Amino acid sequence: MTQAETAAPDFMSTLATGARMIGVPLSADQLARFERYYQELVTWNRKFNLTAITDYEDVQTKHFLDSLAGLPILAEELGLPVTLRPELRLVDVGTGAGFPGIPLKLAAPGLNLTLMDGTGKKIRFLEQVAAALDLDDITIVQGRAEELGRTEAFRAQYDVVTARAVAPLSTLVEYLLPMVRPGGFSLIYKGPGAPQEFLAARKAIQVLGGDTVRFAPLEVPFVEGGRFILLVKKVRATPDLYPRGQGLPRRQPID
Ligand code: SAH
Repeated sequence: MTQAETAAPDFMSTLATGARMIGVPLSADQLARFERYYQELVTWNRKFNLTAITDYEDVQTKHFLDSLAGLPILAEELGLPVTLRPELRLVDVGTGAGFPGIPLKLAAPGLNLTLMDGTGKKIRFLEQVAAALDLDDITIVQGRAEELGRTEAFRAQYDVVTARAVAPLSTLVEYLLPMVRPGGFSLIYKGPGAPQEFLAARKAIQVLGGDTVRFAPLEVPFVEGGRFILLVKKVRATPDLYPRGQGLPRRQPID
């Protein structure tokens, strides 16, 4: 074997270590794609404001590892390895610069991934990244979740609907749960306000056809606490009334 084949790559080493710690080992090829993603992110960020986090170490921990930390929890609930099942349909709502969707796809390449965002400049960045990283089975959609969730193409179509940092929880569940197929899951990444938000959203989760199967602190390597994960199973169809239009999920969340 040549040295090139045996040596660990000298980039994304924090990500490599952290990913191993959470049980999501990444190959040299996968790490190289994360490195390319980082380069695209900081290059585009000079022209368009995509993220406030651009430091090399911070992106590895607060974006990449944070996104990946939900994967073992989801895989365990589904009874699957962390590479998941090929063709599992997952949509990331309000994905922004691609979080958590793109890291999940890089770790579990068989995923059938949809990235959704309301903002055109995010969509153009995501299209560029998908091409640069040579991602397949990926769909990039510009639109608002509360509108797309009323259409046949999106309603009850996904095995997993995920989101990070998009809206307060009682609003967010009205965006997400309509798109989950019966028996599927919503995987929600939340910050330090999660316990209070969860109490306020319990009624909405139930009304929308959800049942909480997990709500727990999320351990992210090299990140100091304040992270939570919520996993909701869709146990009943969402009533036709939801998601409501006219900004109601945001202005008057279900209570
Ligand atoms: N999930 C990313 C981005 C968070 S910023 C991350 O964790 O880094 C929130 C993003 O959600 C923005 O890009 C915004 O355009 C998008 N967004 C907010 N409300 C939305 C809605 N109702 N439908 C679709 N996208 C939405």
